[in-house]
Amino acid sequence: MWRHVTLALVVTALFVAPSGAQVSSSGCRPTSADMLGPFYVPGAPERNKTGDGLTVQGAVRSVRECKGIPGAKLEWWSANGRGDYDDGHRATQVTDGEGRFRYVTDMPGKYPGRPVHLHVKVTAPGHKPLVTQIYPKPNENSITSDFVLVSD
Ligand code: FE
Repeated sequence: MWRHVTLALVVTALFVAPSGAQVSSSGCRPTSADMLGPFYVPGAPERNKTGDGLTVQGAVRSVRECKGIPGAKLEWWSANGRGDYDDGHRATQVTDGEGRFRYVTDMPGKYPGRPVHLHVKVTAPGHKPLVTQIYPKPNENSITSDFVLVSD
């Protein structure tokens, strides 16, 4: 019986350790993943603005030392004001020398069954891709959010 208990503990440790080991001493925690959804399209034009009224800014960071990652790629997509996905609300951005980004867009419209949200996919060499979402509150016009990536 004890063999089984020991085995269970070892298996648990194997699954728990990798994420635990990647929380940096500075307290930088990996950003939680969120649904990709059916509307992602790769290859959106490189641009920092697809509308007006909602600014999202922050930095892409590596979990190990919480350092900004220069040249990380962000791909944004969101619904237009009527709640429909369109190519006008897709963008690709690359972070600056300190890992920072700033994206300006329209407040997405509502569509059934979901709170208002923006989708983003964040990728950087040496790190696992992150797909997540931002949830603006009603009338919010500026959001600061860092995205923390886990190392490969
Ligand atoms: Fe969506």
